[in-house]
Amino acid sequence: MNVHLIRSSEFDSNHFWEVLDLLQKFPGIMRFFTNEEHVLIADEEIRQEKYDSENFHVQKSLSMEMCSDKKVEVVKWETFFGKCNDFRRKNDIGDEEFVVLLTDYSNDKNWFAAADPNARNLFVQTKYWDYFAGSDQRYPVAYHVVTVILKKLMFRDYLDLNLHWHEKPVGCMMDFCRNKNEISLKLRTADICPDCLKLISERKVDHTVVQQVFDVLDGIRTQMVYKERFVINRKAPLMVFEGRNQRIVFPELGDLEIRLTPLEKTVYLFFYRHPEGVELNCVQDHRAEILNIYESLSNADNVKTMEARIDDLISPLSNSISEKISRIKRKFSEALGEEMANDFVIGGENAEKRFIQDTKGIHNALTS
Ligand SMILES: [Zn+2]
Repeated sequence: MNVHLIRSSEFDSNHFWEVLDLLQKFPGIMRFFTNEEHVLIADEEIRQEKYDSENFHVQKSLSMEMCSDKKVEVVKWETFFGKCNDFRRKNDIGDEEFVVLLTDYSNDKNWFAAADPNARNLFVQTKYWDYFAGSDQRYPVAYHVVTVILKKLMFRDYLDLNLHWHEKPVGCMMDFCRNKNEISLKLRTADICPDCLKLISERKVDHTVVQQVFDVLDGIRTQMVYKERFVINRKAPLMVFEGRNQRIVFPELGDLEIRLTPLEKTVYLFFYRHPEGVELNCVQDHRAEILNIYESLSNADNVKTMEARIDDLISPLSNSISEKISRIKRKFSEALGEEMANDFVIGGENAEKRFIQDTKGIHNALTS
């Protein structure tokens, strides 16, 4: 069963890949793909709406009314599903396959995620998760991708679905979460209650799909708990470098990968190999070593090009290396949260020695 993920253009492509990476970690009958295509939602398809704080926090039922205060960009469900159908036509996607649109835009019924009543299309909202779940957006987004697929396979239509929502949250995927703040319970438990399990079995949903959904939910729960406990136990996760491209991966966080460009990764590996620290104005003394790292990572086959890039990187006249260091910091912080990222970013100020905390013998990373 193929599941094609697409994004609307405003949803950050790194975050899109993080969700896809996470889902692909749980192999099974559902196979998650993307062709990296993104869809454009035109200005005239977006409505600016204002919610007061109360309504912003309310997930509306099929009937709804609107209010004012918080400005939200709203797109109709039909528009989202129309984009999914365009993608189907263009890429010859079969009716049995799923198309999932990940989008920052809110929607006219103010739901987190929903399926198309007429086809195997669904959308998942990717924005505002910090308001409701306070967690890494990958988890709520991946959670909704798999649970909405399961619901689409379980229920005939919205009438049927509406008969089975839990109005009172029990930590099950069928909790309606009319008050959006209730979503954190659903994510933390990441479970399916006994009544719903019985229903899944009565409705004869393919058990291999159900198993895979369980695997994803279990994985999400473990990783979320790991991150939450960090606040108390300060146990930094293990970081490993994988393969020829030295992918930077955190296995305990569901193989979360920090995606750096070859030049950024060159800078990172250089400092990783110098736990004693190096001042920025001494970096050019290490030209040969830096060039060597870059040659092993870069896809550029022209030696002259590679040399020019490294010379620019280490030139005391350019700001290039500082820029790379801040960009690396941003990428780690976005993926791990600022606190957890502290051990892994290249620390130090101005003329001080710069080094990565994690290399100071506090935690040992492995190279494979
Ligand atoms: Zn339930």
